[in-house]
Amino acid sequence: MSIIPYGRQDINQSDIEAVTSVLKSDFLTQGPIVPAFESALASYVGVKYAVAVNSATSALHIACLALGVGKGDIVWTVPNTFVASANAALYCGATIDFVDIDTSTFNISVQSLSDKLEQAKKSRTLPKVVIPVHFAGQSCDMDEIHSLSKRYGFKVIEDASHAIGAKYQGESIGISKYSDLTVFSFHPVKIITTGEGGMVVTNSEELAKQLRLLRSHGITYESLDMESRNPQEIWNYQQVELGYNYRMTDLQAALGLSQLKRLDEFIVNRRLIASHYDSMLHKLPIIIPRRNNDCYSSFHLYVIRLQLEKMHKTQRQVYDQLREAGVMVNLHYIPVYRQPYYERLGFKKGYCPQSEKCFLESISIPIFQSLSAEDQNRVVRTLFEVLE
Ligand SMILES: *Cc1c(COP(=O)(O)O)cnc(C)c1O
Repeated sequence: MSIIPYGRQDINQSDIEAVTSVLKSDFLTQGPIVPAFESALASYVGVKYAVAVNSATSALHIACLALGVGKGDIVWTVPNTFVASANAALYCGATIDFVDIDTSTFNISVQSLSDKLEQAKKSRTLPKVVIPVHFAGQSCDMDEIHSLSKRYGFKVIEDASHAIGAKYQGESIGISKYSDLTVFSFHPVKIITTGEGGMVVTNSEELAKQLRLLRSHGITYESLDMESRNPQEIWNYQQVELGYNYRMTDLQAALGLSQLKRLDEFIVNRRLIASHYDSMLHKLPIIIPRRNNDCYSSFHLYVIRLQLEKMHKTQRQVYDQLREAGVMVNLHYIPVYRQPYYERLGFKKGYCPQSEKCFLESISIPIFQSLSAEDQNRVVRTLFEVLE
């Protein structure tokens, strides 16, 4: 019996040729392909600047730093995300806190956000940055989040790791209209891949410049950005900040550039797979993913909610039985603050009840570009066997 993963990359011959041609070229890293990938991605999204890095985790870290997050600052995100969205704030020495989600979309609840902001204003603990996550590829309510950011004076980083190519109100996610910075991930389970990789996009020249410094040791080669001293002391570069080595290689960028050409086709296919699931699964005691009218989801994930009161099985049994049948379902996500590390920071069970409830009812079933009709039908059949 073959195993059906919950997500996987799709690499074709042109992807392979793009990478091998870099291998035969002069530069494996810091050559011409990284800037080519950046400008192709910026124009795809419709923004001025894109800064490539070696993962979305690094992207989130330098995005926080570029917005000035440091010791004494507070950053908010949701519990229903990968740990990296929260860890980024901790890397900067800031304090992290969590806003509960909306159970219909699994995205940040605008009501919870607005209530929490009102409280924080009273206790003078307003966040410097809020990181909404476009869960499964469907946009958060960015209009509302943007107006709250103006009212309470916080910055916004969109974690769009699931959502490259998705749209909100007819425009690409990441257009820099509702936020300061947007982050994408190119990990192999995401929509397009570079092996490991990430990107930050923005319309702010100043932020883009800061991000470029931070991804490469804080070093500048531009004489204008160097600290002026005796001209005799200025050589080819200066370190002006404490940065990191978060650079993407040309090998990765070549794969990214080639995958970017296939992105729209990937999303059309993911949406077909999702619609097929919608039509096949509605008879089961589950809730299928909600689709908001103003969103075009990239369907990075397809998360079903078990109506446990209508079945004689627990979430654990369903999860185990599907996996035993070779359908590698997954969980998105264990609330971040329920991780042992976060519990040691003082977070307790029950802190964000909606996130905990969603987690205990949800299972993520296979969805990816190369999922064959045959395998998808096997997923459906297995779900009927396990759930009916
Ligand atoms: C995958 C993911 C990340 C981290 O991406 P990497 O590129 O693996 O570092 C961050 N946030 C979310 C929501 C993700 O799904």
